[in-house]
Amino acid sequence: MTLRRRFTFFTIFWLIFILILFNIFVYLFVINITLRSEDQLMTNKVNILLEDKRIDKPAGLSDPDLLTDYYNASELMRIVSPEGRVLNTSGSDPQLLALKPVFSVQHDTGMIYIDNRRVLYMKVPLYNGTQVIGTLELYRMLTLLDSYLRVLVIALTVTSVGAIMFAILGTYWFTSRLTSPIQHMVQTMREIDRSGKLRKIELGGKDQSAELLSLARAFNQMIDRLDRTFERQKQFVADASHELKTPLTVISSYAGLLNRWGRDDENVRDEAIEAISKESARLQNLTKSMLMLAEAEQEDWLKLETFDLVHLADETADMLHMTFHRLIRVQAPKTDVRLTADKEKIRQLLVILLDNAIKYSKETIDVTLSVNKGLVRMAVADKGIGIPPEEMPHLFERFFRVDGARRRSTGGVGLGLSIAKRIVDLHDGKIDVFSKPDEGTTITVTLPQKK
Ligand code: ATP
Ligand code: MG
Repeated sequence: MTLRRRFTFFTIFWLIFILILFNIFVYLFVINITLRSEDQLMTNKVNILLEDKRIDKPAGLSDPDLLTDYYNASELMRIVSPEGRVLNTSGSDPQLLALKPVFSVQHDTGMIYIDNRRVLYMKVPLYNGTQVIGTLELYRMLTLLDSYLRVLVIALTVTSVGAIMFAILGTYWFTSRLTSPIQHMVQTMREIDRSGKLRKIELGGKDQSAELLSLARAFNQMIDRLDRTFERQKQFVADASHELKTPLTVISSYAGLLNRWGRDDENVRDEAIEAISKESARLQNLTKSMLMLAEAEQEDWLKLETFDLVHLADETADMLHMTFHRLIRVQAPKTDVRLTADKEKIRQLLVILLDNAIKYSKETIDVTLSVNKGLVRMAVADKGIGIPPEEMPHLFERFFRVDGARRRSTGGVGLGLSIAKRIVDLHDGKIDVFSKPDEGTTITVTLPQKK
């Protein structure tokens, strides 16, 4: 069932329920009020009658003027003797006259129905001293009440039906306004699905509800993010093919050179072989980095374990020292630095940072480890060429190299720091760069001790 229909049904049923309760209440209330006032009228009349001098004496009871003085239309008044004889009557309604006269010593009031019409009655014993000499019977047809009630029922029905109609129209109008943005969103999503082109939802006017606005905003944010991701992916493919093209061009042109002159000219041969092997090493490096990046992109790929970061840093520093013959000092607290993380990824992170420090500096490199309030801090500092401040914001972009041409000689492809950033993000950590050209660079990584 659609939201609109649900909403309309609910409102209508709820309204009908309220109206029924309300109408019943009004109906009963009117009856109650009228009966009470009619009853009061009768009581007043009887009280006045009882004050009449003629009513205390048996002879006065049959005075023909006695009751006519108090008579009202659609009433019957009569006096019944102890023997059950009617002493005095006033009233002409045949249905009331047909009622059996009853002598009674009890005061009695109540209501009876004659042909579905309400009739109020009151029976009052008449005394001469302490002796009951007759019963005054008073019947009063509530014809006015019945006609009032008929009008009331009609009025209530008409207003209720009107209210329900208005409610149906109103709810229909309201829900169509309410759900039209949803419809609009669904349409946009379908269009995206069909065309494959990302599109945002236009945010409606001020009268749109806050929830729907925030839904549309969330949707648009998601579209923005997807858009950026697609854009980045496109950029990545473009950059990657560009990066692959250069070494491949170099290799193929040197291969052509070899083919033409290499057999005779020893110099050309040596140069070509050297260039080809250098470029293929670059290619190897590049593909390896790209694979690493692809791996790091995988979100649920962390193999968490708890290990000692000092030990890991020592190991990595030793390994790099053996390869590059550069001095790397690891400064750490006396105790272990326990860290729960993906050990291999952290090792990779250290290698990336140390590799940069080795490439872009010539002096000793310092690795400093510390723990504070559940955060592990790791800093890699070198005294190398540094990074110009205007380049800082781009450091973590893929394939970014400061002054690309110059750095090509170092063999870097510009993926190291973007992989590092990805690893740190996966561990909910933070990476910061502090650098001054010609003074050196310090890169700090802060990781939560337990992810
Ligand atoms: P690779 O993908 O092989 O690591 P790369 O080292 O050029 O290539 P990144 O590690 O991402 O790429 O670094 C990006 C750029 O940042 C580098 O080209 C370099 O110019 C600069 N950079 C990074 N670390 C340092 C550093 N310690 N000192 C000076 N410049 C640095
Ligand atoms: Mg690097």
